[in-house]
Amino acid sequence: AGLDANLRKLTDKRQKLLGESYRLFYRKPVHLVRGEGQYLWDAAGEKYLDVYNNVASIGHCHPAVIEAVHQQMQRLNTHTRYLHEAILDYSEALLATMPAAIDRAMYMCTGSEANDLAIRVARAYSGGSGIIVSQEAYHGTSELTSGVSPALGSGQPLAATTRLVPPPDRYRVNAPDLGTWFATQIQRQIDDMQAHGIKFAGFLADSIFSSDGVLPDPRGFLQQAIEVVHNNGGIFIADEVQPGFGRTGEAFWGFARHGVVPDIVTTGKPMGNGIPVSGLLAKSEVLAAFSDAIPYFNTFGGNPVSMAAAQAVLKVIHEEQLQEHSRVVGAKLLAELKTLMDKYDCVGDVRGAGLFIGFELVADRENKTPDKALALDVVEQLRDNHVLTSVAGPYGNVLKLRPPLAFQEQDIDWLVGALDRSLAALGR
Ligand code: PMP
Repeated sequence: AGLDANLRKLTDKRQKLLGESYRLFYRKPVHLVRGEGQYLWDAAGEKYLDVYNNVASIGHCHPAVIEAVHQQMQRLNTHTRYLHEAILDYSEALLATMPAAIDRAMYMCTGSEANDLAIRVARAYSGGSGIIVSQEAYHGTSELTSGVSPALGSGQPLAATTRLVPPPDRYRVNAPDLGTWFATQIQRQIDDMQAHGIKFAGFLADSIFSSDGVLPDPRGFLQQAIEVVHNNGGIFIADEVQPGFGRTGEAFWGFARHGVVPDIVTTGKPMGNGIPVSGLLAKSEVLAAFSDAIPYFNTFGGNPVSMAAAQAVLKVIHEEQLQEHSRVVGAKLLAELKTLMDKYDCVGDVRGAGLFIGFELVADRENKTPDKALALDVVEQLRDNHVLTSVAGPYGNVLKLRPPLAFQEQDIDWLVGALDRSLAALGR
């Protein structure tokens, strides 16, 4: 009801043609036709501020990526069973951003494939099968990764070897030291595995805990947990699909913010700025047991066109100093968003690192009662104010503000003004 003819037509057609597990954003869907930098345009020519997409991380339709892909597509696109410089040049550049211990690169097309392989590698290396993830984690679409993705809900059974730890949420966890508390949670799950005859293989985590509600603070809280993982013979897989490639401003990788060295790093989304490319980077000694036993070939993974896109992205991040940009503009945005706490009691907490911010809405500040209904209404109001974002967290009450890194200081007013108007319009 209330949709114009074009939106109605496309919505109806989707319903008829596409698999039914696809979910559209917004009560009034958005029909996008063009993007540039941090902006998107719909079919009616209306302009939107994108505060959600980390795939187009260096900006929608960045000319450097278009040019790199175009050039390589004209010459050759093939697979990793032939020699080619692009994959080697990119691997050198990418590994140079990582701790020296991580010295091997492999490529796929999606974050799911990277995590799927990471789990297989962790199992081969440790001889165990048990994987610990956070309570609201999402790690992918495959059998193995959906089995460690509680975010998919009760319809998706977790693997019997999966164990969950509660989110390391400084706002809600009442503990003098979040790091100690979190390490205790990890140990508890390792002990539970042991009690059930499951050997521990590893801890798989997105170090900014995006789907758990964006939990960046305090920096370093992961250190004790990773010590516990290693002391129990497991490995740490850092899922960098969300915080990687300069997003958090404070470090190029999310794990580096915490001062920990993973055994395996997985990447995806922002790596190719929209070209499907993902990676698994690992310590050679961790990869060895898997590599010795099982060949790996991913038809599209690491192809020269994907590598050209990824190389262009890396170059732009360095040339445009996007990590530093994310740190500076992200801090300003965070400060402006925090001023809304003075005006609206329903804003319970605002937290973030660089251009990755969680804006938590509560019914009652004292009891921190999550207000999911309000968060969903705000998302719709923002959409009507031409600001596109969505929610995260176990209660679905945290606005996830994660714009392309092309987001500029002048966009802050648009976003904060729209949030202000939305909360006012909802009578807060
Ligand atoms: N890990 C994390 C943390 C993610 O956010 C996602 C995607 N939302 C994935 C893995 C899966 O990536 P893909 O959709 O590219 O398979």
